[in-house]
Amino acid sequence: MIKIKNLHKKFGKLTVLDGLDLDIEKGGIFAILGPNGSGKTTLIKCLLGMVVPNKGEISFQGNNILKEWNYRNNLNYLPQIANFPANLSVIELIKMVKNLRPKQANEQELIDLFGLQPFLKKKLGNLSGGTKQKVNLVLTFMFDSDLIILDEPTTGLDPIALIYLKDLIKKERDKGKTVLITTHIMSVVEELADEIVFLLDGKIYFKGSITKLQEQTNQTNLEHAIANLISKQYVN
Ligand code: ADP
Ligand code: MG
Repeated sequence: MIKIKNLHKKFGKLTVLDGLDLDIEKGGIFAILGPNGSGKTTLIKCLLGMVVPNKGEISFQGNNILKEWNYRNNLNYLPQIANFPANLSVIELIKMVKNLRPKQANEQELIDLFGLQPFLKKKLGNLSGGTKQKVNLVLTFMFDSDLIILDEPTTGLDPIALIYLKDLIKKERDKGKTVLITTHIMSVVEELADEIVFLLDGKIYFKGSITKLQEQTNQTNLEHAIANLISKQYVN
């Protein structure tokens, strides 16, 4: 579904992506992991055309994305930091996003699921971080797309909302969708990920199932397995 070849991205002198290669097959949940600042968000933004790479190729469903934009109709994106207009109400924002996309939207079920009904007329600037994140989730999941990209979707969520989010993600997988998710919460990775994609030093340092990671590192605990991946890198 996604093929990335030799992707390079620098911000000034800082090299963030350094010849990164990655293939994402269609269907399943891919957890994109890596230390803070390892380039997860930059990689996602390159996929979205929001960051232009210095070098490399990206194709989505067989088409080179650097030359055309239509592919973006077929993906949903939850940004790590949502900059909502503070003076707009929740319902105004939802309507605005619906009008921007030429697609059927199903927002009502999600509004009910996350208990957002009492907040619909409130201004976004007055909401708590967790409630804003729930709005962010409604905007992402209300459209039907083949690819769903979630950059730190669990930020600020209460435990019940987290359960609902995990269920939503599993439902998308069951429909054959492809989900890319970044998170630092290992229980989420353990519960959801079909594959782990681990970024380090601007490249994909590991890609494979949790079982493969456990075998390769000789660690059953996921946090330890990942720590082991990183420490091996520094020893070598
Ligand atoms: P991650 O999502 O893995 O935490 P990011 O992709 O956000 O990492 O950032 C990778 C590195 O690139 C960080 O050091 C960050 O400060 C830097 N960076 C990201 N975006 C920009 C930008 N627009 N300008 C300058 N530096 C940036
Ligand atoms: Mg990030």
